[in-house]
Amino acid sequence: VRAIEIAADRSLVVGERALTPPGEGEVVLAVALCGICGSDIHMRPERAPVGTVMGHELSGTITEVGPGVEGWAAGQRVVVNPFDPCGDCAECDRGDRHLCRNPDGRAIGLRTAPGGYADFVTVQPHQLFAIPDAVSDAAGALVEPLAVGVHGVLLAGELPLREPVAVFGAGPIGLMTLLALQANGARQVVLVERNPARGARVGDIAGVEAITPEEVAAGGLAERLGGPPGVVFDCAGHASVMPVALEQVRPGGLVVMIGIADDAMPVAPMVLATKELTIRGALAYRTEDIERAIALLADGRVPVERVVTSTVGFDRAEAMFQELVRPGTDEIKVLLSPAL
Ligand SMILES: [Zn+2]
Ligand SMILES: [Zn+2]
Repeated sequence: VRAIEIAADRSLVVGERALTPPGEGEVVLAVALCGICGSDIHMRPERAPVGTVMGHELSGTITEVGPGVEGWAAGQRVVVNPFDPCGDCAECDRGDRHLCRNPDGRAIGLRTAPGGYADFVTVQPHQLFAIPDAVSDAAGALVEPLAVGVHGVLLAGELPLREPVAVFGAGPIGLMTLLALQANGARQVVLVERNPARGARVGDIAGVEAITPEEVAAGGLAERLGGPPGVVFDCAGHASVMPVALEQVRPGGLVVMIGIADDAMPVAPMVLATKELTIRGALAYRTEDIERAIALLADGRVPVERVVTSTVGFDRAEAMFQELVRPGTDEIKVLLSPAL
């Protein structure tokens, strides 16, 4: 069976591996589709050891169930929660498994266990979620990133329903956040994206207007929203956005940072203090968020064919990783297919 591995020179190469049957408490899936995530692009250059198989946004079909596994059978279509919380720390005890202190035991595609950039992947039953027929393989590959948006929006509580919202960053996470906002009934939403063509395209998919940072600096958010936003979602993954978000959000407002910049983010103490602002970070999601993402996709609330801009075979993984970091790329979500 094939798997896309990180080679010694950090390129992505298709390698051959033996297919090991599932051990005690393990389940083997045939991967249907696996999304390329921004975090994979960040992980590839140094953070992941040579030989790592990435891929944590996958859909597939169970092919084999190991001893001791109950409730799952070959032929079931599934998606996975890639994390592997320990179930034993204070956070897990409290029910915050997404905040587990040891979340990487055998986290799929996140360095500690091989991921979905492969023909087959081995997972644990607690990581599995069944998907209905109404969720296509492509839609299934969007469950994980959509759950990130669903969870981030949930952290803002009722605010997005009552007050204007700004979302910074028109990458996949920005789009998923917009779609989650829309599904929740938020009506006054503006997208901010530095690439106007991309902003327009992603804004169109989510049914919101997009403006540029220059327009924001000129008062564009308050102008379009009838006042400053009560909540800002920072989905840009760039350190320059946080100071702008803090500047733009109303006094007493909330900034939710979804996605992670490489650099430290400047936070002006005077702005934070005088406006009594709250900053929340978000990375993962709860089981309920995954279930909600599946339900939204099953209900057709996500235009999957517009979000997924390319589906390619393993031999094109390297080229797609390069395309996705090209400024001005038209790609939004790219899926890898073992079948192509
Ligand atoms: Zn991801
Ligand atoms: Zn834990």
